[in-house]
Amino acid sequence: EIVTVKTKSKEYPVYIGSGIIKELPRFVGENCKSVSKVLVISDQTVSQLYLQTIMDQLANTYEAISYVIPSGESSKSFDIYNKCQTFALANRLDRSSLIIALGGGVVGDLAGFVAATFMRGIPFIQVPTTLLAHDSAVGGKVAINHNLGKNMIGAFHQPNAVVYDIDFMKTLPLDELRSGFAEVIKHGLIWDNSFFEWLSEEITSLEDLKEEKLQYAVVKGISIKAEVVSVDEEEKGIRAFLNFGHTLGHAIEAELGYGNITHGDGVAIGMVFAMKVGETLSNHEIYSERIANWLQKFDFPVTIPMQLEATKLLSRMKHDKKVTSGKVRMVLLKEIGEVEIVEVDDERLLSLLA
Ligand code: NAD
Ligand code: ZN
Repeated sequence: EIVTVKTKSKEYPVYIGSGIIKELPRFVGENCKSVSKVLVISDQTVSQLYLQTIMDQLANTYEAISYVIPSGESSKSFDIYNKCQTFALANRLDRSSLIIALGGGVVGDLAGFVAATFMRGIPFIQVPTTLLAHDSAVGGKVAINHNLGKNMIGAFHQPNAVVYDIDFMKTLPLDELRSGFAEVIKHGLIWDNSFFEWLSEEITSLEDLKEEKLQYAVVKGISIKAEVVSVDEEEKGIRAFLNFGHTLGHAIEAELGYGNITHGDGVAIGMVFAMKVGETLSNHEIYSERIANWLQKFDFPVTIPMQLEATKLLSRMKHDKKVTSGKVRMVLLKEIGEVEIVEVDDERLLSLLA
């Protein structure tokens, strides 16, 4: 299947299917005209599983080289960024070269930022290998981390194509699958009530996320992300809806220390929290209880870890780069499938965080 992403700066296809990675050279040819050299950036774990086959295929048509980075969030650093640029320069990549990101969100964000800045920007293709990356590979946000904040150094650089082979998911550890599933759920909750209902009826364990159902969920998730991004590429308006569950989620990740909780687990807690905030503000039931119960079937945490202090979390939520006034701006659900952005008082937040 193909979902087309249309933004002001670029229009590009997202290919989704099982086994489609073997067509990568064709996708490259169709979406990047007159490419000579190809640099594939991947991480240690993914490269051991998939890199060799991909390099062999590319070698039939292109001069292909690869660079492998350590697995994990710590690779979104100035140091690894510098190493990638050095490798690209030393191997004489030029303005007609292409970078392929083979991996999860870490590789995608890093390799995308390398591509965005190498010689003022060269094309890149996303080949996501995690479920979470159905989200991160679409939309063109690329970044590395700074000591003072995650994703603080980055760019908007849309890929020329995204090639999403769902077979990669077969080797993904279950906690990583669950992490990515949180973003699929988020896409349903903020945008599409009937998709969310489908999820809550059809998916009751991570085992259900296989073959047709996994593909359907990914196609829907990507279509929603594509729609939001096409209206608002640079996050001046509704793209902020995608931050549903993330204000508290990010605060929890930061407080526990990155790597001590997956992004998706943080988002799951954040989504339930945002629903509760919405319910107390409107006295209107959004089914936070029902959804929390369903989330727990996948072993998602749905409450704030005991050791975390309300005041610290609140101050983290305020340091979120989206805060404009003194109050925390949160994405809240009006109904399932519809969100609004609301400034929430500290007192209300503190009482619900405690
Ligand atoms: P990740 O890239 O670190 O992948 C998670 C782990 O799974 C890694 O250890 C990786 O080596 C391993 N892995 C990847 N694919 C595998 C496979 N097929 N089989 C077995 N193991 C595999 O993390 P992630 O969760 O994919 O992405 C998280 C990152 O994405 C964060 O840095 C976050 O900031 C970023 N992100 C970016 C956006 C965006 O819009 N750009 C959106 C959401 C998240
Ligand atoms: Zn996220």
